[in-house]
Amino acid sequence: MAHVEAEGGCLCGAIRYRVDGEVVGSAACHCRDCQYVCGGAPSYVFVVAAKSLEITKGKTATYRNEAESGAIRIRHFCPTCGSPLFAEDSAFPDFVSIKAGTLDDPSNYKPGAHFWAKSAPPWHHFDPDTPSFTKGANSEPVKNS
Ligand SMILES: [Zn+2]
Ligand SMILES: [Zn+2]
Repeated sequence: MAHVEAEGGCLCGAIRYRVDGEVVGSAACHCRDCQYVCGGAPSYVFVVAAKSLEITKGKTATYRNEAESGAIRIRHFCPTCGSPLFAEDSAFPDFVSIKAGTLDDPSNYKPGAHFWAKSAPPWHHFDPDTPSFTKGANSEPVKNS
């Protein structure tokens, strides 16, 4: 997959980061937890090795809980403005998922798949050209009608 070399941060600017590494995947996550964190939309994320991410300014606050997958997720957000920034997942400890909307230029981003589609609200419009899965990466694909 593509190499990414980019900077990003939160809405208020208190947190800044730099990412330089291979993108191992990108996806929209429609699980209920992500809907809360993102205020209605899915989480649009891309995944890189944790060592590819460097926080260059500020210190994130974190929220840790058990995801529906059973994994422990640690969600990083700005303690001042609340912007969701990254998440760690105990099932993939060497990787981090970065919220695409926090890139300074998110225009080149595209989700490679939709996960946890079973939890999406009926009003979410799914792109029929992007594969969708009922739950996580190894779950049933959703048939596009
Ligand atoms: Zn902020
Ligand atoms: Zn999710």
